[in-house]
Amino acid sequence: MSKAFASQADLADKKITFEQLSPHCWAYTAEGDPNSGVIIGERFIMVSDATATPAMAKDLIARIREVSDKPIKYVLLTHYHAVRVLGASAYVAEGATEVIASQGTYELIVERGAEDMQSEMDRFPRLFRNAESIPGLTWPTMVIGGGDATKGEVPGRLTVDLGGVRVQMWSPGYGHTRGDTIAWVEEEKVLFSGDLVEFEAGVYTGDAQLEEWPATLEALRALKAEAIVPGRGEAMKGNAQVNKALDYTQRWVETLYRCGREAAAANMDLKAAMEHTRKAMDPVFGHVFIYEHCLPFDVSRAYDEAKGIKNPRIWTAERDKEMWAALQA
Ligand SMILES: [Zn+2]
Repeated sequence: MSKAFASQADLADKKITFEQLSPHCWAYTAEGDPNSGVIIGERFIMVSDATATPAMAKDLIARIREVSDKPIKYVLLTHYHAVRVLGASAYVAEGATEVIASQGTYELIVERGAEDMQSEMDRFPRLFRNAESIPGLTWPTMVIGGGDATKGEVPGRLTVDLGGVRVQMWSPGYGHTRGDTIAWVEEEKVLFSGDLVEFEAGVYTGDAQLEEWPATLEALRALKAEAIVPGRGEAMKGNAQVNKALDYTQRWVETLYRCGREAAAANMDLKAAMEHTRKAMDPVFGHVFIYEHCLPFDVSRAYDEAKGIKNPRIWTAERDKEMWAALQA
């Protein structure tokens, strides 16, 4: 049975929820579509993840304007993926002055931002419906440098004061990419995780560092957050619920990578690796949003990493289709 490529058959609009989690923190979620977070201070507002297009970002801005007239000054890119970053120009048009990303994310935009943009536009036609409103790649104006957490170094950290609320940003370690940044409002114990954490939605790992990801999740667990805005899936409130999202993501990542290692050790080809992985993943995760979209990309990456390819191979629109024809056709 042949499946429509990636999310090309997923054209029904999602219901958006804009929900207050704490005195200053809000979640903009959409039934498994990419989420954004909003932190509203007495002087400034920060948005964590820009949405896929300026047209889509305008909806988020309209929601913000229902609750605050303060300027949106900061846009954080939790990582380089197009569905997260290409809406950024809408905030700049509204007066935002800083687009923040980690050094790792900046390097990935340089290395593969253009290929990723083309590839994601083909994967998610619904999210990129207004692609003509995108002026080009999104480049950070402020880059968080500093040590590499995966080498035991202290990661660089940026703190901004929005007026009555401070937001800390740093890269807790490799995971969904090697540049993921979180936003943490310590006083209110709210975590904006980007795609490092998902809940009841596909965990895309096509560009991931699977070996290190579980340790990064443990670093997030140690924050003892009382609320989380995951990359996809509903916002979770209460530490037990936060841990449920961390557990969900960890189980996905560990199951996938274990299957990849088993397939590589048994000298399976990629198609056999896919079948092997399905046996473990389908019963647990087969029902969640964008599972069938994510799985072939995830298996490809798990198999590569198990074979010793440390830096994920760049996905192009052409490589996407070739892989899909081999694994999902
Ligand atoms: Zn992502």
